[in-house]
Amino acid sequence: MTPPPDQKRDTGKTLAPNLPDYERARAAFSWQQAREELAGMPDGKLNIAYEALDRHLDTPTADRTAIRFLPREGPPVDISYRELAERSNRFANLLQELGLQPGDGVYCLAHRIPDLYAAALGTLKHGCVFTPLFSAFGPEPIRSRVEIGEPVAIVTTERLYRRKLAEWILETPSVRHVLLIGDVADAPDGTLDADQAMTRQSADYATRPMNPEDRALLHFTSGTTGKPKGAIHVHEAVVAHHITGKHALDLPPEDIYWCTADPGWVTGTSYGIISPLTNGTTMVVDEEEFDAERWYRILQDQRVTVWYTAPTAIRMLMKYGPELARQHDLSRLRFLSSVGEPLNPESVHWGRHTLGLPFHDNWWQTETGGIMIANFTSMPIKPGSMGRPVPGVEAAVVRHTNEGIELINDPAETGELVLKTPWPSMFRGYLHEDERYRKCFIGDWYLTGDLARCDEDGYLWFIGRADDVIKSSGHLIGPFEVESVLMEHPSVAEAGVIGIPDEVAGETVKAFVSLKPGFEPGENLMKEILGLARKRLGPAVAPRQVEFRDRLPSTRSGKIMRRLLRARELGLPEGDTSTLEGGKE
Ligand code: ATP
Ligand code: MG
Repeated sequence: MTPPPDQKRDTGKTLAPNLPDYERARAAFSWQQAREELAGMPDGKLNIAYEALDRHLDTPTADRTAIRFLPREGPPVDISYRELAERSNRFANLLQELGLQPGDGVYCLAHRIPDLYAAALGTLKHGCVFTPLFSAFGPEPIRSRVEIGEPVAIVTTERLYRRKLAEWILETPSVRHVLLIGDVADAPDGTLDADQAMTRQSADYATRPMNPEDRALLHFTSGTTGKPKGAIHVHEAVVAHHITGKHALDLPPEDIYWCTADPGWVTGTSYGIISPLTNGTTMVVDEEEFDAERWYRILQDQRVTVWYTAPTAIRMLMKYGPELARQHDLSRLRFLSSVGEPLNPESVHWGRHTLGLPFHDNWWQTETGGIMIANFTSMPIKPGSMGRPVPGVEAAVVRHTNEGIELINDPAETGELVLKTPWPSMFRGYLHEDERYRKCFIGDWYLTGDLARCDEDGYLWFIGRADDVIKSSGHLIGPFEVESVLMEHPSVAEAGVIGIPDEVAGETVKAFVSLKPGFEPGENLMKEILGLARKRLGPAVAPRQVEFRDRLPSTRSGKIMRRLLRARELGLPEGDTSTLEGGKE
Protein backbone atom coordinates (compact mmCIF):
# COMPACT_ATOMS: atom_id res chain seq x y z
CA MET A 1 0.00 0.00 0.00
CA THR A 2 1.31 3.47 -0.75
CA PRO A 3 0.52 6.12 1.81
CA PRO A 4 -2.18 8.55 0.68
CA PRO A 5 -1.18 12.17 0.25
CA ASP A 6 -2.51 12.98 3.71
CA GLN A 7 0.14 15.11 5.24
CA LYS A 8 0.18 18.71 4.36
CA ARG A 9 3.29 19.82 6.12
CA ASP A 10 3.09 23.42 5.10
CA THR A 11 3.90 25.02 8.43
CA GLY A 12 6.48 27.19 6.78
CA LYS A 13 9.09 24.46 7.05
CA THR A 14 9.11 20.97 5.78
CA LEU A 15 8.69 18.68 8.72
CA ALA A 16 9.63 15.06 8.58
CA PRO A 17 7.24 12.84 10.52
CA ASN A 18 8.43 11.89 13.99
CA LEU A 19 7.71 8.33 13.08
CA PRO A 20 8.67 7.94 9.43
CA ASP A 21 8.62 4.16 9.38
CA TYR A 22 6.19 2.41 11.69
CA GLU A 23 7.63 -1.10 11.43
CA ARG A 24 11.14 0.07 12.00
CA ALA A 25 10.22 2.31 14.92
CA ARG A 26 8.30 -0.54 16.50
CA ALA A 27 11.17 -2.97 16.16
CA ALA A 28 13.72 -0.54 17.57
CA PHE A 29 11.56 0.81 20.38
CA SER A 30 12.27 0.39 24.07
CA TRP A 31 10.65 2.17 26.99
CA GLN A 32 14.09 2.66 28.46
CA GLN A 33 15.13 4.63 25.39
CA ALA A 34 11.92 6.62 25.51
CA ARG A 35 12.71 7.47 29.08
CA GLU A 36 16.12 8.72 28.04
CA GLU A 37 14.49 11.39 25.91
CA LEU A 38 13.42 12.94 29.17
CA ALA A 39 15.77 14.49 31.72
CA GLY A 40 14.92 12.44 34.78
CA MET A 41 16.20 13.45 38.22
CA PRO A 42 19.17 12.12 40.22
CA ASP A 43 19.00 8.58 41.62
CA GLY A 44 16.37 7.32 39.19
CA LYS A 45 13.74 9.77 40.41
CA LEU A 46 11.48 11.81 38.21
CA ASN A 47 8.55 14.19 38.28
CA ILE A 48 6.01 14.81 35.54
CA ALA A 49 6.16 18.58 36.06
CA TYR A 50 9.93 18.60 35.91
CA GLU A 51 9.74 17.05 32.44
CA ALA A 52 6.94 19.38 31.37
CA LEU A 53 8.56 22.61 32.54
CA ASP A 54 11.84 22.66 34.49
CA ARG A 55 13.97 20.82 32.04
CA HIS A 56 13.17 23.38 29.31
CA LEU A 57 14.32 26.34 31.38
CA ASP A 58 17.93 26.39 30.31
CA THR A 59 17.03 25.83 26.65
CA PRO A 60 15.53 28.18 24.04
CA THR A 61 12.14 26.58 24.79
CA ALA A 62 11.99 28.63 28.00
CA ASP A 63 10.93 31.71 26.07
CA ARG A 64 8.60 29.92 23.70
CA THR A 65 4.86 30.24 24.27
CA ALA A 66 3.63 27.29 26.30
CA ILE A 67 -0.02 28.36 26.44
CA ARG A 68 -1.83 30.66 24.08
CA PHE A 69 -4.87 31.41 26.18
CA LEU A 70 -7.99 32.57 24.37
CA PRO A 71 -10.27 34.27 26.86
CA ARG A 72 -13.99 34.33 26.22
CA GLU A 73 -13.54 37.85 24.95
CA GLY A 74 -10.52 39.95 24.17
CA PRO A 75 -7.12 39.25 22.67
CA PRO A 76 -5.09 36.07 23.21
CA VAL A 77 -2.68 35.94 26.13
CA ASP A 78 0.66 34.20 25.60
CA ILE A 79 2.31 32.48 28.56
CA SER A 80 5.88 31.31 28.05
CA TYR A 81 7.37 28.13 29.44
CA ARG A 82 9.32 30.25 31.92
CA GLU A 83 6.24 32.14 33.07
CA LEU A 84 4.24 28.94 33.48
CA ALA A 85 7.10 27.39 35.45
CA GLU A 86 7.24 30.40 37.75
CA ARG A 87 3.52 30.47 38.27
CA SER A 88 3.42 26.77 39.09
CA ASN A 89 6.36 27.27 41.46
CA ARG A 90 4.36 29.87 43.32
CA PHE A 91 1.52 27.41 43.59
CA ALA A 92 3.84 24.64 44.82
CA ASN A 93 5.25 27.03 47.43
CA LEU A 94 1.73 27.85 48.55
CA LEU A 95 0.93 24.16 49.03
CA GLN A 96 4.12 23.84 51.01
CA GLU A 97 3.25 26.79 53.23
CA LEU A 98 -0.17 25.28 53.87
CA GLY A 99 1.49 22.10 55.05
CA LEU A 100 0.45 19.75 52.25
CA GLN A 101 2.59 16.64 52.08
CA PRO A 102 3.62 14.60 49.06
CA GLY A 103 0.90 12.08 48.33
CA ASP A 104 -1.89 14.40 49.51
CA GLY A 105 -4.75 14.78 47.06
CA VAL A 106 -5.47 18.10 45.34
CA TYR A 107 -8.66 18.35 43.30
CA CYS A 108 -9.23 21.05 40.76
CA LEU A 109 -12.67 22.23 39.72
CA ALA A 110 -12.22 25.06 37.26
CA HIS A 111 -12.92 25.94 33.70
CA ARG A 112 -10.03 26.42 31.32
CA ILE A 113 -8.14 29.37 32.78
CA PRO A 114 -4.34 29.69 32.93
CA ASP A 115 -4.10 29.09 36.68
CA LEU A 116 -5.73 25.68 36.29
CA TYR A 117 -2.58 24.70 34.39
CA ALA A 118 -0.29 26.33 36.95
CA ALA A 119 -2.17 24.58 39.77
CA ALA A 120 -1.97 21.19 38.06
CA LEU A 121 1.76 21.49 37.48
CA GLY A 122 2.43 23.07 40.90
CA THR A 123 0.55 20.19 42.54
CA LEU A 124 2.75 17.68 40.73
CA LYS A 125 5.91 19.64 41.55
CA HIS A 126 5.07 19.40 45.22
CA GLY A 127 4.50 15.65 44.91
CA CYS A 128 0.77 15.87 45.55
CA VAL A 129 -1.76 13.85 43.57
CA PHE A 130 -3.74 15.87 41.04
CA THR A 131 -7.37 15.16 40.16
CA PRO A 132 -9.21 17.30 37.64
CA LEU A 133 -12.98 17.60 37.80
CA PHE A 134 -15.12 18.83 34.97
CA SER A 135 -16.36 22.33 35.83
CA ALA A 136 -19.86 21.58 34.52
CA PHE A 137 -20.39 18.87 37.13
CA GLY A 138 -23.19 19.57 39.57
CA PRO A 139 -22.64 19.42 43.35
CA GLU A 140 -23.58 15.73 43.60
CA PRO A 141 -20.99 14.27 41.24
CA ILE A 142 -18.38 16.53 42.79
CA ARG A 143 -19.35 15.43 46.26
CA SER A 144 -19.25 11.73 45.50
CA ARG A 145 -15.80 12.08 43.89
CA VAL A 146 -14.55 14.07 46.88
CA GLU A 147 -15.83 11.41 49.25
CA ILE A 148 -14.12 8.66 47.28
CA GLY A 149 -10.78 10.43 46.79
CA GLU A 150 -10.59 12.40 50.07
CA PRO A 151 -8.52 15.31 48.79
CA VAL A 152 -6.77 17.56 51.28
CA ALA A 153 -7.24 20.64 49.10
CA ILE A 154 -9.65 21.82 46.45
CA VAL A 155 -8.71 24.41 43.89
CA THR A 156 -11.62 26.23 42.32
CA THR A 157 -12.90 29.66 41.32
CA GLU A 158 -14.99 31.97 43.44
CA ARG A 159 -17.99 31.52 41.19
CA LEU A 160 -17.85 27.74 41.15
CA TYR A 161 -17.28 27.69 44.89
CA ARG A 162 -20.40 29.73 45.53
CA ARG A 163 -22.50 27.74 43.09
CA LYS A 164 -21.37 24.20 43.80
CA LEU A 165 -19.28 23.84 46.93
CA ALA A 166 -20.23 26.49 49.49
CA GLU A 167 -23.01 24.51 51.07
CA TRP A 168 -21.10 21.38 51.91
CA ILE A 169 -17.38 21.36 51.25
CA LEU A 170 -16.24 22.91 54.53
CA GLU A 171 -17.89 20.09 56.47
CA THR A 172 -16.01 17.44 54.48
CA PRO A 173 -13.49 15.90 56.88
CA SER A 174 -10.58 15.42 54.47
CA VAL A 175 -10.70 18.90 52.92
CA ARG A 176 -8.47 21.28 54.84
CA HIS A 177 -8.05 23.98 52.20
CA VAL A 178 -10.19 25.59 49.54
CA LEU A 179 -8.01 27.64 47.22
CA LEU A 180 -9.58 30.15 44.87
CA ILE A 181 -7.88 30.83 41.54
CA GLY A 182 -8.81 33.28 38.79
CA ASP A 183 -10.33 36.65 39.70
CA VAL A 184 -11.39 36.67 43.31
CA ALA A 185 -13.62 39.56 44.37
CA ASP A 186 -14.26 38.50 47.91
CA ALA A 187 -13.01 35.18 49.26
CA PRO A 188 -15.81 33.64 51.35
CA ASP A 189 -15.03 32.46 54.90
CA GLY A 190 -13.12 29.22 54.94
CA THR A 191 -11.50 29.82 51.52
CA LEU A 192 -8.18 31.31 50.54
CA ASP A 193 -7.62 33.81 47.75
CA ALA A 194 -4.87 31.77 46.12
CA ASP A 195 -4.45 34.29 43.33
CA GLN A 196 -3.34 36.85 45.86
CA ALA A 197 -1.50 34.37 48.08
CA MET A 198 0.60 33.27 45.10
CA THR A 199 1.91 36.79 44.53
CA ARG A 200 3.53 36.59 47.97
CA GLN A 201 5.20 33.27 47.19
CA SER A 202 8.63 32.83 45.67
CA ALA A 203 8.81 32.07 41.95
CA ASP A 204 11.50 29.48 42.67
CA TYR A 205 10.75 26.00 43.82
CA ALA A 206 12.89 22.89 43.81
CA THR A 207 10.61 20.32 42.19
CA ARG A 208 10.38 17.23 44.36
CA PRO A 209 12.15 14.20 42.97
CA MET A 210 9.60 11.38 43.09
CA ASN A 211 9.91 7.65 42.78
CA PRO A 212 8.62 6.55 39.38
CA GLU A 213 5.92 4.52 41.13
CA ASP A 214 4.69 7.38 43.33
CA ARG A 215 1.13 8.43 42.66
CA ALA A 216 0.74 11.52 40.53
CA LEU A 217 -2.78 11.58 39.09
CA LEU A 218 -6.16 10.26 40.04
CA HIS A 219 -8.59 10.32 37.12
CA PHE A 220 -12.22 9.38 37.16
CA THR A 221 -13.45 7.45 34.13
CA SER A 222 -16.20 8.92 31.97
CA GLY A 223 -19.04 6.92 33.49
CA THR A 224 -20.27 5.77 30.08
CA THR A 225 -20.97 2.24 31.25
CA GLY A 226 -21.68 2.85 34.93
CA LYS A 227 -20.41 4.55 38.05
CA PRO A 228 -17.09 6.27 37.35
CA LYS A 229 -14.00 4.51 38.65
CA GLY A 230 -10.97 6.32 40.09
CA ALA A 231 -7.91 5.28 38.07
CA ILE A 232 -4.55 5.82 39.77
CA HIS A 233 -1.53 6.91 37.72
CA VAL A 234 2.10 7.39 38.71
CA HIS A 235 4.93 9.76 37.74
CA GLU A 236 6.45 7.16 35.42
CA ALA A 237 3.43 7.75 33.17
CA VAL A 238 5.15 10.81 31.76
CA VAL A 239 7.36 8.56 29.63
CA ALA A 240 4.26 7.38 27.76
CA HIS A 241 2.65 10.83 27.67
CA HIS A 242 5.76 12.19 26.04
CA ILE A 243 6.54 9.53 23.48
CA THR A 244 2.98 8.85 22.38
CA GLY A 245 2.42 12.58 21.82
CA LYS A 246 5.51 12.56 19.68
CA HIS A 247 4.65 9.40 17.74
CA ALA A 248 0.86 9.34 17.53
CA LEU A 249 0.11 13.07 17.45
CA ASP A 250 3.34 13.82 15.63
CA LEU A 251 4.15 16.76 17.90
CA PRO A 252 7.39 18.54 17.23
CA PRO A 253 8.14 21.83 19.01
CA GLU A 254 7.31 23.90 15.92
CA ASP A 255 3.65 23.07 16.22
CA ILE A 256 0.69 25.10 17.32
CA TYR A 257 -1.32 22.38 18.90
CA TRP A 258 -4.92 22.43 19.97
CA CYS A 259 -6.41 19.67 22.13
CA THR A 260 -10.07 20.49 22.54
CA ALA A 261 -10.62 18.12 25.48
CA ASP A 262 -11.29 19.75 28.83
CA PRO A 263 -8.68 18.95 31.49
CA GLY A 264 -11.61 17.58 33.51
CA TRP A 265 -11.02 14.39 31.54
CA VAL A 266 -7.94 12.29 31.12
CA THR A 267 -7.41 13.42 27.51
CA GLY A 268 -7.32 17.03 28.62
CA THR A 269 -4.57 16.22 31.12
CA SER A 270 -2.40 13.66 29.32
CA TYR A 271 -2.61 15.49 25.96
CA GLY A 272 -4.00 18.88 27.03
CA ILE A 273 -1.32 19.60 29.64
CA ILE A 274 1.50 17.10 29.96
CA SER A 275 2.39 15.77 26.52
CA PRO A 276 2.44 19.09 24.62
CA LEU A 277 4.67 20.59 27.31
CA THR A 278 7.14 17.71 27.48
CA ASN A 279 7.33 17.99 23.69
CA GLY A 280 7.95 21.74 23.86
CA THR A 281 5.00 22.77 21.68
CA THR A 282 2.71 25.76 21.95
CA MET A 283 -0.78 24.80 22.96
CA VAL A 284 -3.95 26.72 22.40
CA VAL A 285 -6.34 26.85 25.36
CA ASP A 286 -9.80 28.18 24.66
CA GLU A 287 -11.88 29.31 27.62
CA GLU A 288 -15.14 29.01 25.69
CA GLU A 289 -17.23 25.93 24.95
CA PHE A 290 -17.91 24.48 21.48
CA ASP A 291 -19.10 26.89 18.86
CA ALA A 292 -18.59 25.92 15.24
CA GLU A 293 -17.77 29.40 14.02
CA ARG A 294 -15.45 30.17 16.93
CA TRP A 295 -13.63 26.88 16.42
CA TYR A 296 -12.99 27.50 12.74
CA ARG A 297 -11.82 31.00 13.62
CA ILE A 298 -9.40 29.59 16.19
CA LEU A 299 -8.00 27.08 13.70
CA GLN A 300 -7.50 29.90 11.23
CA ASP A 301 -6.35 32.80 13.40
CA GLN A 302 -4.10 30.80 15.72
CA ARG A 303 -2.65 28.99 12.72
CA VAL A 304 -3.21 25.65 14.40
CA THR A 305 -1.10 22.89 12.86
CA VAL A 306 -2.01 19.82 14.94
CA TRP A 307 -5.55 19.38 16.14
CA TYR A 308 -6.71 16.69 18.57
CA THR A 309 -10.46 16.50 18.98
CA ALA A 310 -13.33 14.03 19.37
CA PRO A 311 -15.94 12.39 17.14
CA THR A 312 -18.75 14.29 18.83
CA ALA A 313 -17.16 17.64 17.90
CA ILE A 314 -16.50 16.45 14.37
CA ARG A 315 -20.12 15.35 14.03
CA MET A 316 -21.26 18.77 15.20
CA LEU A 317 -19.06 20.48 12.64
CA MET A 318 -20.42 18.14 9.98
CA LYS A 319 -23.90 19.14 11.02
CA TYR A 320 -23.11 22.76 10.13
CA GLY A 321 -22.08 21.73 6.65
CA PRO A 322 -18.95 22.38 4.62
CA GLU A 323 -19.66 26.03 3.76
CA LEU A 324 -18.63 27.36 7.16
CA ALA A 325 -15.35 25.48 6.97
CA ARG A 326 -14.65 26.82 3.49
CA GLN A 327 -15.03 30.39 4.66
CA HIS A 328 -11.89 29.95 6.74
CA ASP A 329 -8.25 29.57 5.83
CA LEU A 330 -7.32 26.24 7.38
CA SER A 331 -4.21 25.73 5.32
CA ARG A 332 -1.88 25.60 8.32
CA LEU A 333 -3.44 22.39 9.57
CA ARG A 334 -1.20 19.43 8.93
CA PHE A 335 -2.41 16.68 11.27
CA LEU A 336 -5.91 15.96 12.56
CA SER A 337 -6.70 13.34 15.13
CA SER A 338 -9.62 12.12 17.15
CA VAL A 339 -10.27 10.09 20.28
CA GLY A 340 -12.92 9.09 22.78
CA GLU A 341 -15.43 7.22 20.67
CA PRO A 342 -15.35 5.29 17.47
CA LEU A 343 -14.69 7.58 14.54
CA ASN A 344 -17.11 6.82 11.74
CA PRO A 345 -15.53 6.47 8.29
CA GLU A 346 -17.89 9.22 7.20
CA SER A 347 -16.06 11.62 9.52
CA VAL A 348 -12.67 10.63 8.12
CA HIS A 349 -13.90 11.31 4.59
CA TRP A 350 -15.49 14.57 5.63
CA GLY A 351 -12.15 15.74 7.04
CA ARG A 352 -10.47 14.91 3.78
CA HIS A 353 -13.06 16.67 1.61
CA THR A 354 -13.84 19.64 3.78
CA LEU A 355 -10.65 20.36 5.70
CA GLY A 356 -8.27 18.89 3.15
CA LEU A 357 -6.97 16.28 5.61
CA PRO A 358 -8.36 13.09 7.06
CA PHE A 359 -8.83 12.56 10.78
CA HIS A 360 -6.49 10.03 12.36
CA ASP A 361 -8.37 7.99 14.91
CA ASN A 362 -6.65 6.81 18.06
CA TRP A 363 -7.82 4.67 20.92
CA TRP A 364 -7.11 4.62 24.62
CA GLN A 365 -8.80 4.68 28.01
CA THR A 366 -8.50 6.44 31.35
CA GLU A 367 -6.93 3.20 32.54
CA THR A 368 -4.22 3.16 29.87
CA GLY A 369 -3.24 6.76 30.66
CA GLY A 370 -2.06 7.41 27.12
CA ILE A 371 -2.66 6.56 23.47
CA MET A 372 -2.31 2.83 22.82
CA ILE A 373 -3.55 2.39 19.25
CA ALA A 374 -3.26 5.00 16.55
CA ASN A 375 -3.23 5.94 12.92
CA PHE A 376 0.20 7.46 12.41
CA THR A 377 1.25 10.15 9.93
CA SER A 378 3.33 7.75 7.92
CA MET A 379 0.75 4.98 7.70
CA PRO A 380 -2.17 4.74 5.30
CA ILE A 381 -5.47 5.28 7.05
CA LYS A 382 -8.17 2.67 6.83
CA PRO A 383 -11.28 4.70 7.64
CA GLY A 384 -13.15 3.08 10.54
CA SER A 385 -10.05 1.46 11.98
CA MET A 386 -8.38 2.64 15.20
CA GLY A 387 -4.98 1.98 13.62
CA ARG A 388 -2.09 0.00 15.03
CA PRO A 389 -0.53 -0.24 18.49
CA VAL A 390 1.94 2.50 19.39
CA PRO A 391 5.57 1.38 19.53
CA GLY A 392 6.14 -0.19 22.94
CA VAL A 393 2.62 -1.55 23.21
CA GLU A 394 1.46 -4.99 22.20
CA ALA A 395 -2.26 -5.35 21.53
CA ALA A 396 -4.16 -8.51 20.75
CA VAL A 397 -7.67 -9.82 20.37
CA VAL A 398 -8.68 -12.78 22.54
CA ARG A 399 -11.53 -15.15 23.17
CA HIS A 400 -12.44 -16.22 26.67
CA THR A 401 -12.28 -19.90 27.46
CA ASN A 402 -12.82 -21.93 30.60
CA GLU A 403 -9.08 -21.83 31.20
CA GLY A 404 -8.67 -18.11 30.63
CA ILE A 405 -8.00 -16.41 27.32
CA GLU A 406 -6.78 -17.50 23.92
CA LEU A 407 -5.30 -15.29 21.23
CA ILE A 408 -7.41 -14.98 18.08
CA ASN A 409 -5.53 -15.11 14.79
CA ASP A 410 -8.50 -15.05 12.47
CA PRO A 411 -8.97 -11.55 11.07
CA ALA A 412 -12.69 -12.14 10.75
CA GLU A 413 -13.23 -13.06 14.39
CA THR A 414 -14.20 -10.58 17.05
CA GLY A 415 -12.89 -10.80 20.60
CA GLU A 416 -11.84 -8.72 23.55
CA LEU A 417 -9.07 -6.21 22.99
CA VAL A 418 -6.19 -6.85 25.40
CA LEU A 419 -2.85 -5.13 26.00
CA LYS A 420 0.36 -6.74 27.19
CA THR A 421 1.42 -5.35 30.57
CA PRO A 422 3.17 -3.27 31.65
CA TRP A 423 3.61 0.14 30.06
CA PRO A 424 4.51 3.32 31.93
CA SER A 425 1.09 4.99 31.94
CA MET A 426 -0.84 1.86 32.86
CA PHE A 427 -3.14 2.54 35.80
CA ARG A 428 -1.85 1.13 39.06
CA GLY A 429 -5.23 0.62 40.68
CA TYR A 430 -8.85 1.64 40.96
CA LEU A 431 -9.18 3.66 44.10
CA HIS A 432 -10.73 1.52 46.89
CA GLU A 433 -11.61 -1.19 44.36
CA ASP A 434 -8.74 -3.66 44.50
CA GLU A 435 -10.82 -6.64 43.49
CA ARG A 436 -12.15 -4.85 40.43
CA TYR A 437 -8.60 -3.89 39.48
CA ARG A 438 -7.36 -7.45 39.79
CA LYS A 439 -10.15 -8.67 37.57
CA CYS A 440 -8.84 -6.48 34.75
CA PHE A 441 -5.85 -8.77 34.27
CA ILE A 442 -5.30 -12.33 33.15
CA GLY A 443 -1.66 -13.38 33.13
CA ASP A 444 0.33 -10.69 31.36
CA TRP A 445 -2.69 -9.16 29.69
CA TYR A 446 -4.86 -6.22 30.60
CA LEU A 447 -8.47 -6.73 29.52
CA THR A 448 -9.89 -3.53 28.10
CA GLY A 449 -13.60 -4.39 28.11
CA ASP A 450 -13.79 -3.35 24.44
CA LEU A 451 -14.35 -5.73 21.56
CA ALA A 452 -12.26 -5.53 18.43
CA ARG A 453 -11.00 -7.32 15.36
CA CYS A 454 -7.45 -7.37 14.03
CA ASP A 455 -7.09 -7.49 10.22
CA GLU A 456 -4.35 -9.04 8.07
CA ASP A 457 -2.31 -5.84 8.17
CA GLY A 458 -2.42 -5.59 11.95
CA TYR A 459 -5.01 -2.78 11.99
CA LEU A 460 -7.46 -2.95 14.86
CA TRP A 461 -11.16 -2.35 14.29
CA PHE A 462 -13.40 -1.30 17.17
CA ILE A 463 -16.59 -3.34 17.40
CA GLY A 464 -18.11 -1.97 20.57
CA ARG A 465 -17.86 -2.06 24.30
CA ALA A 466 -18.46 -5.54 25.65
CA ASP A 467 -21.54 -4.12 27.44
CA ASP A 468 -23.00 -2.57 24.30
CA VAL A 469 -22.62 -5.44 21.89
CA ILE A 470 -25.87 -6.92 20.59
CA LYS A 471 -26.45 -10.64 20.20
CA SER A 472 -29.08 -11.27 17.56
CA SER A 473 -29.91 -14.68 16.04
CA GLY A 474 -26.40 -15.93 16.64
CA HIS A 475 -24.75 -12.77 15.27
CA LEU A 476 -22.59 -10.53 17.37
CA ILE A 477 -23.44 -7.01 16.28
CA GLY A 478 -21.27 -4.06 17.20
CA PRO A 479 -23.24 -0.84 17.48
CA PHE A 480 -20.43 1.08 15.81
CA GLU A 481 -20.79 -0.77 12.51
CA VAL A 482 -24.51 -0.06 12.38
CA GLU A 483 -24.15 3.55 13.50
CA SER A 484 -21.50 4.21 10.87
CA VAL A 485 -23.88 3.09 8.12
CA LEU A 486 -26.71 5.21 9.50
CA MET A 487 -24.35 8.19 9.50
CA GLU A 488 -23.92 7.76 5.77
CA HIS A 489 -27.47 8.95 5.26
CA PRO A 490 -27.31 12.67 4.50
CA SER A 491 -29.95 13.50 7.12
CA VAL A 492 -28.31 11.77 10.07
CA ALA A 493 -26.26 13.83 12.50
CA GLU A 494 -25.85 11.23 15.25
CA ALA A 495 -26.85 7.63 15.74
CA GLY A 496 -27.00 5.35 18.78
CA VAL A 497 -27.82 1.69 18.45
CA ILE A 498 -28.95 -0.76 21.14
CA GLY A 499 -30.25 -4.29 21.45
CA ILE A 500 -33.74 -4.89 22.73
CA PRO A 501 -34.86 -8.29 23.99
CA ASP A 502 -36.69 -10.45 21.48
CA GLU A 503 -38.13 -13.87 22.11
CA VAL A 504 -37.01 -15.30 18.81
CA ALA A 505 -33.76 -13.55 18.00
CA GLY A 506 -32.51 -13.02 21.53
CA GLU A 507 -32.08 -9.35 20.75
CA THR A 508 -33.00 -7.11 17.84
CA VAL A 509 -31.34 -3.90 16.81
CA LYS A 510 -32.98 -0.57 17.46
CA ALA A 511 -31.52 2.73 16.32
CA PHE A 512 -31.96 6.21 17.67
CA VAL A 513 -30.96 9.04 15.40
CA SER A 514 -30.83 12.82 15.56
CA LEU A 515 -31.12 14.80 12.37
CA LYS A 516 -29.13 17.56 10.75
CA PRO A 517 -30.75 21.00 10.48
CA GLY A 518 -33.19 21.16 7.58
CA PHE A 519 -34.47 17.57 7.96
CA GLU A 520 -37.77 16.67 9.57
CA PRO A 521 -38.56 13.34 11.20
CA GLY A 522 -41.24 11.37 9.38
CA GLU A 523 -42.37 8.02 8.07
CA ASN A 524 -40.70 8.43 4.68
CA LEU A 525 -37.36 9.44 6.08
CA MET A 526 -37.51 6.53 8.50
CA LYS A 527 -38.14 4.11 5.63
CA GLU A 528 -35.26 5.60 3.67
CA ILE A 529 -32.85 5.21 6.58
CA LEU A 530 -34.02 1.67 7.30
CA GLY A 531 -33.69 0.85 3.60
CA LEU A 532 -30.12 2.12 3.48
CA ALA A 533 -29.24 0.09 6.56
CA ARG A 534 -30.80 -3.06 5.16
CA LYS A 535 -29.04 -2.65 1.86
CA ARG A 536 -25.65 -2.05 3.41
CA LEU A 537 -25.83 -4.39 6.43
CA GLY A 538 -28.27 -7.09 5.45
CA PRO A 539 -31.50 -7.84 7.27
CA ALA A 540 -29.84 -9.77 10.12
CA VAL A 541 -27.78 -6.82 11.25
CA ALA A 542 -29.84 -3.80 10.15
CA PRO A 543 -32.05 -2.12 12.74
CA ARG A 544 -35.67 -3.17 12.83
CA GLN A 545 -36.71 0.20 14.15
CA VAL A 546 -35.48 3.75 13.91
CA GLU A 547 -36.61 6.39 16.35
CA PHE A 548 -35.90 10.09 15.97
CA ARG A 549 -34.59 12.13 18.87
CA ASP A 550 -33.62 15.79 19.08
CA ARG A 551 -30.39 14.70 20.69
CA LEU A 552 -28.94 11.52 22.08
CA PRO A 553 -27.90 11.17 25.72
CA SER A 554 -24.15 11.57 25.96
CA THR A 555 -21.49 12.11 28.58
CA ARG A 556 -20.05 15.56 29.12
CA SER A 557 -16.99 14.34 27.28
CA GLY A 558 -19.22 13.59 24.29
CA LYS A 559 -19.74 9.84 24.36
CA ILE A 560 -23.12 8.45 23.42
CA MET A 561 -24.56 6.67 26.47
CA ARG A 562 -26.14 3.60 24.94
CA ARG A 563 -26.85 2.15 28.36
CA LEU A 564 -29.20 5.10 28.98
CA LEU A 565 -30.95 4.67 25.64
CA ARG A 566 -31.46 1.06 26.60
CA ALA A 567 -32.56 1.71 30.19
CA ARG A 568 -35.06 4.30 29.01
CA GLU A 569 -36.35 2.08 26.25
CA LEU A 570 -36.84 -0.86 28.57
CA GLY A 571 -37.94 1.07 31.65
CA LEU A 572 -34.89 -0.04 33.62
CA PRO A 573 -33.13 1.99 36.33
CA GLU A 574 -30.92 4.66 34.78
CA GLY A 575 -27.95 4.05 37.08
CA ASP A 576 -25.25 6.67 37.53
CA THR A 577 -26.01 9.78 35.45
CA SER A 578 -23.44 12.06 37.03
CA THR A 579 -21.58 12.58 33.78
CA LEU A 580 -24.65 13.02 31.58
CA GLU A 581 -24.46 16.08 29.33
CA GLY A 582 -27.27 18.48 30.10
CA GLY A 583 -27.69 16.86 33.51
CA LYS A 584 -28.26 19.00 36.59
CA GLU A 585 -25.51 21.51 37.29
P1 ATP B 1 -16.54 4.14 32.01
O1 ATP B 1 -15.31 3.28 32.04
O2 ATP B 1 -16.73 4.90 33.27
O3 ATP B 1 -17.75 3.45 31.53
P2 ATP B 1 -15.46 5.27 29.60
O4 ATP B 1 -14.96 3.90 29.32
O5 ATP B 1 -16.20 5.97 28.52
O6 ATP B 1 -16.32 5.30 30.93
P3 ATP B 1 -12.94 6.58 29.25
O7 ATP B 1 -11.80 5.91 29.89
O8 ATP B 1 -12.94 8.06 29.18
O9 ATP B 1 -14.24 6.19 30.02
O10 ATP B 1 -13.12 6.07 27.76
C1 ATP B 1 -12.47 4.96 27.24
C2 ATP B 1 -13.38 4.22 26.30
O11 ATP B 1 -13.80 5.08 25.24
C3 ATP B 1 -12.74 3.05 25.61
O12 ATP B 1 -12.75 1.89 26.41
C4 ATP B 1 -13.61 2.91 24.36
O13 ATP B 1 -14.79 2.19 24.63
C5 ATP B 1 -13.95 4.35 24.04
N1 ATP B 1 -13.00 4.87 23.04
C6 ATP B 1 -11.99 5.73 23.23
N2 ATP B 1 -11.36 5.99 22.06
C7 ATP B 1 -11.98 5.28 21.12
C8 ATP B 1 -11.80 5.09 19.71
N3 ATP B 1 -10.86 5.74 19.04
N4 ATP B 1 -12.63 4.23 19.08
C9 ATP B 1 -13.58 3.57 19.75
N5 ATP B 1 -13.81 3.70 21.06
C10 ATP B 1 -13.02 4.54 21.75
MG1 MG C 1 -14.16 2.47 30.58
